[in-house]
Amino acid sequence: MTTHLVWFRNDLRVTDNRALSAACEDVDATVIAVFIATPAQWRKHDMAPRQAAFIYQHLQALQGALSERGIPLYYHQCELFSDSVDWLVKFAAEHHVDALFYNDQVEINEVERDAAVDKALSPEVQIQRFNDSLLLPPGSVTTGEGSMYKVYTPFRRAFLQRLSESDCRSLPAPHARKNSHPGEAAELSPFDYPQQEVGDDFPIGEEAARDRLRRFCRENVQDYLEQRDLPAVDGTSTLSPYLAIGVLSPRQCLNRLRAENPEVLEKTDGGAFGWLNELVWREFYRHLLVAWPSLCKRQPFIEWTKGITWRDAPDDLQAWQAGKTGYPIVDAAMRQLNATGWMHNRLRMIVASFLVKDLLIDWRCGERYFMSKLVDGDLAANNGGWQWGASTGTDAAPYFRIFNPTTQGERFDKQGRFIKAWVPELSDVPERDIHQPHRWAEKQRRVLDYPFPIIDHARARKDTLAAFEAAKNRA
Ligand code: FAD
Repeated sequence: MTTHLVWFRNDLRVTDNRALSAACEDVDATVIAVFIATPAQWRKHDMAPRQAAFIYQHLQALQGALSERGIPLYYHQCELFSDSVDWLVKFAAEHHVDALFYNDQVEINEVERDAAVDKALSPEVQIQRFNDSLLLPPGSVTTGEGSMYKVYTPFRRAFLQRLSESDCRSLPAPHARKNSHPGEAAELSPFDYPQQEVGDDFPIGEEAARDRLRRFCRENVQDYLEQRDLPAVDGTSTLSPYLAIGVLSPRQCLNRLRAENPEVLEKTDGGAFGWLNELVWREFYRHLLVAWPSLCKRQPFIEWTKGITWRDAPDDLQAWQAGKTGYPIVDAAMRQLNATGWMHNRLRMIVASFLVKDLLIDWRCGERYFMSKLVDGDLAANNGGWQWGASTGTDAAPYFRIFNPTTQGERFDKQGRFIKAWVPELSDVPERDIHQPHRWAEKQRRVLDYPFPIIDHARARKDTLAAFEAAKNRA
């Protein structure tokens, strides 16, 4: 009897899962599955307790969905990736595994771990790997010279061309097996890692994720371009937590989008294309990570930016983290992050710019803090977003582009609806004054229980430009 082992990692779903489907192709094979938790590794990378809880709850759902198909999901917890290699080798021997199936990950530690597993298991165990977390595999979209694009727009052009020629069909969930595995899978014991409830914002399960996708593509995507920058409006899909741990695949997103908008690949304007564009940004950052693995080690892409002298300002960093900077849009955003584990994209850009270009604090402090809080924490997208905002990344905002946090608030949360939802201290401040509340309080002879701005934007802007220019001139 042939035994196939499916190793689940960040692909916690049964529908449209390439490795799982391939393992189930041989109807006579016995299929078993495994998930290995590595809390020490997660600690090293500041994984958010909310994301840990989200993974755990999805593992439980996955175990149920697999069990209905006669596939037991085994579970093991060890500390580091290196320990998981030895354990997997032992497990494969004990269960007489003939072939191991898994979906590739792009991060450097994961790539090294997988190479060690492949080496330790083969040739006795056949290894079958799949590109599943991306629409197109890294390395498949290259310039005429065969290298990875450094600039997004030509990458997107080439990407969409290849995409139109590729088979991106989604695969159905496998049927129940004829040969159910007779052994019992271990019960899932809680991770040895802090966990924090995710709440109703992100319901658990593949079905919930697919429902959200369907609803978004049917009801919201047409208005995406007009609404995507307004944090007070539900204008984006809020699918990122599901995509980050693979409860949903990018192919499912693309196919649902195409079902509602058959011409999305040709018609390059409108909301549907705007949304597709974000999925392509997701691909771009992942492809970059594979082409430049140093990005995984938090190195800036632009060499000269290594020479920037950052401020060591722990009080300012703490005020930023706590949402107490005295800039209402920044504070509302950080409080949303702290309370829910999610933040709107426009706000991520604003708070990143504020930390780096107003407070002149190293972008890596922000990157780490985000990872420690985000339910959708994703190394590639987070690193890409931070390096974009800090002007240290490839195709990033130029260093002299510095958001004014007050005018950003005026532009994207004009009436302060989002601010008022998160900063109750400002509930009495009228709409027109919400972005500069102390001015209003002074005129009213009132004292607000809300901090004064911790830094003067105009002065900070000059200091930041000087710091970037000094580093550039030194290089
Ligand atoms: P939608 O607008 O509906 O977009 C659909 C999907 O496309 C998202 O779910 C996401 O998977 C992808 N996507 C959208 N925008 C981007 C982008 N700029 N870069 C890469 N992928 C994108 N996204 C994460 O998933 N994890 C992170 O850790 C993360 N950190 C970020 C940090 C900073 C400083 C910035 C500026 C952006 C970061 N992003 C991150 C990207 C983006 O903010 C989120 O993906 C988006 O806000 C998620 O909301 P949504 O699902 O409603 O997005």
